[in-house]
Amino acid sequence: MQKFEEVECAICNSQSRFEVSKNGQHNIPINLVLCKNCGLGYLSPRWNADSYFNFYSKEYDSYYRPSLIEEINTTNPEKNAIIQRFQKNNLLPESPSDILDIGSGAGENILNLKKIFPNANLFAIEPSEDSQKNLIKNGVKVISSDANSNWEIGNEGKYSLIILRHVLEHFLNPVEVLKKIQASLKEEGLLYIAVPNNLRPTKNLESKWFRVVHTYYFNKYSLKNILHKSGLEAIIMQEGDELNNHELFTIVRKSKKPLETKISSAHFEEQRKVFMDGLKNDKNPIQILKSRLLRAIGKS
Ligand SMILES: [Zn+2]
Repeated sequence: MQKFEEVECAICNSQSRFEVSKNGQHNIPINLVLCKNCGLGYLSPRWNADSYFNFYSKEYDSYYRPSLIEEINTTNPEKNAIIQRFQKNNLLPESPSDILDIGSGAGENILNLKKIFPNANLFAIEPSEDSQKNLIKNGVKVISSDANSNWEIGNEGKYSLIILRHVLEHFLNPVEVLKKIQASLKEEGLLYIAVPNNLRPTKNLESKWFRVVHTYYFNKYSLKNILHKSGLEAIIMQEGDELNNHELFTIVRKSKKPLETKISSAHFEEQRKVFMDGLKNDKNPIQILKSRLLRAIGKS
């Protein structure tokens, strides 16, 4: 049985919230709210840490990674989205010594990075037992099964590159984890983050986009704010590209001086409108028919 906990906004600590939806993917009930003060989306009340940890270590792969080992392809590392985005922005490090992939799954990204950086030491934090086995088999050292543990102690200033691909939106305490990352980055180290872009969601919000495992719903404003709160700053931040139009990604470094968060109710209004318009459109009979047809012919 899942246990629940109440949380406040992770950016501005406000408890003033707007209720968006109680329905998530796979018919798992959720409580998605938006902070009326700053526009951050989050679940509250949500499952507590034990409930989530059990879900990730035992059930997550059966929902989201049905054939995880077979899917890994490292024959064309230059086609990997992370590598392409670093290259396009001229930010690919020359010879990173230590690379950490947090929430690596079975290793799709870190094993592609291994191809282009054969001399780098590879590390991962990953809760799934099956994924851990595949990582270890391929020469990746699993330093922890839990990003909330004190994995950064003894690893301060160590990593030249840290990857957080579709992971930040799963955390229970994103600021705490980002501060651990900040502490464990080399002075000139880089962090890659990709999250779903909640200002550009896909259709069918309640059956696809809203998920019990997504505890936070970021956009370009809240992602920047949470970085600043954690002593980090974006070098580039981009809303989608030809590889994925619904993704928000950023390449980040340690900030040299404290940066302020920008709190604005206009950010809340913008996010609220996107979600409310999306929910209304999903209930439009023509849209429902279109989704059913696409599903029937196997296109959705
Ligand atoms: Zn807030």
